[in-house]
Amino acid sequence: MSGNKLVDLLNTYNHEHTVLETGKVLTIKAITTGQMKSILQYEGNDDISVIDDVLDDIINGCVITEGFDVNELTLQDRFDLLIGIRKVSKGSSYTFTIKCPQCKSESIQGIDIDDLKVVPFSQTAERSVKVGTNLTLNLNYVRRKHQKEAVALANQMGDLTDTQRRSEVATFMYAFGLDDVRTNQGSVKDISIQDKKEFLDNLSATDYETINDWYKKNNYGTEFKYNVVCKSKCGFSKEEDVPLTGFFF
Ligand SMILES: [Zn+2]
Repeated sequence: MSGNKLVDLLNTYNHEHTVLETGKVLTIKAITTGQMKSILQYEGNDDISVIDDVLDDIINGCVITEGFDVNELTLQDRFDLLIGIRKVSKGSSYTFTIKCPQCKSESIQGIDIDDLKVVPFSQTAERSVKVGTNLTLNLNYVRRKHQKEAVALANQMGDLTDTQRRSEVATFMYAFGLDDVRTNQGSVKDISIQDKKEFLDNLSATDYETINDWYKKNNYGTEFKYNVVCKSKCGFSKEEDVPLTGFFF
């Protein structure tokens, strides 16, 4: 109840959304016009962490389930929930404009979100990878709270270029995902996040790639990719990420 007699008359429909990792069912409702307006003030802002905070506000406003905390969701499930909110708010069809990378002509593309492939979460996936000569790393999914902290930690590193910052954020996120480091002698206990980060920075490029590959291989949720076909018949066709500009409008 909002305390406003008119607002209380709006009998909004509730929907269900299943968290892929846990199978927990959340009750969600459509995004309101007021929430959409609150996104508009960030139009043109290309700071990803600001946009992510706005998306958190949207999620928190649309999930009714008591005790829900977006910070505990994996990044995959947070994105899946955003897609769920988008679908109950505006349906599953999504049109957007793209500029052809080949002939530069603009065209309107459309997809049905329900047609995109959804990779299920695997409870039994292998969580460990081997690096160096005798180290086993136990890896875990990165959660929204980790991502926020990774951004904060990278911001403390002083003057960095945007590319450097993104790369430091990524390493901090992997540090949060690093549950356990084992040698032949056993587990290395109580490692601080800074030590984990320094450890990752000292890995060889091949070993770092091994971690990268684990995250790629164990990614789950909706594959937000589609086949761009240029409508000017220049022949351009390629699988690309679905752009998110205007996703909620
Ligand atoms: Zn073209």
